[in-house]
Amino acid sequence: MPAFKNAMEIFKLLPGTNCRKCLVPTCLAFAVSAFKGDSSLRDCPYLDRTLLEQYEAHSPNWMTMEQGYQESLEPLKREVATIDFPSSAERLGASVSGDRLVINLLGRGFQVSPDGSVASACHVHAWVTVPLLNYIISCAGRALSGKWAPFRELRDGVSWGPLFEDQFEIPLKRIADSHTDLFEIMIQIFNGRPEPSPIGADISIALQLLPRLPILICYWKPEDGLESSLKVLVDTTAEENLNIESIFILCVGLMRMFAKIADSHDPTS
Ligand code: SF4
Repeated sequence: MPAFKNAMEIFKLLPGTNCRKCLVPTCLAFAVSAFKGDSSLRDCPYLDRTLLEQYEAHSPNWMTMEQGYQESLEPLKREVATIDFPSSAERLGASVSGDRLVINLLGRGFQVSPDGSVASACHVHAWVTVPLLNYIISCAGRALSGKWAPFRELRDGVSWGPLFEDQFEIPLKRIADSHTDLFEIMIQIFNGRPEPSPIGADISIALQLLPRLPILICYWKPEDGLESSLKVLVDTTAEENLNIESIFILCVGLMRMFAKIADSHDPTS
């Protein structure tokens, strides 16, 4: 039995009662914590012991998220090596330079070699490489619909929605609450563009994660005793152009980058 590939695989094994016996507020938070290696799966007394032992036999040390992504890179590279770049460029909204494919990810050019290795002027994280290679392999090339939908309304959004909210929308809202320049950073560093909000948000910025994968970050400022709020919408074609796990990975990686940039702008740090 292989090790877990993501926190959702752990979450599906938990009873979902949020009983807190593991000393973590919710089963979802526990799944994320266990996947990162911050909690032991044995801290949940309700997890099937036989199943647990099977996983432990094959995975004595729980993989961190980054390690997990690193391990999935080689098979993805092999698959990319079978793809003809010139005939795939239009499908991907990319261009070809010499023998390399050039794809814009968050406003920056990433070059992919025929062997699947990825290079860029900026640091290339696994959270970028895995979705980028998946995009090259599986993007259907569907033209954007121009219609926005909540992440959880995607085909697999019901199961991934809670994790997306916990790992992306909530932490991003916290950053937006404490760093009012977050949206300026999105515009100036990540080529974000202000857009009219279809759901009446105070601030609404579109980010082009990949050529055929935009997201819309919608933020409501706190007002009259009401808390702020943040929701992320995706183009309704999103899941046809990139699988939902890769969309999730890209968004969480992006949020971590925002957090680092925001920290470096923090006047108290
Ligand atoms: S002990 Fe298990 S069931 Fe209870 S909150 Fe933690 S993970 Fe969920």
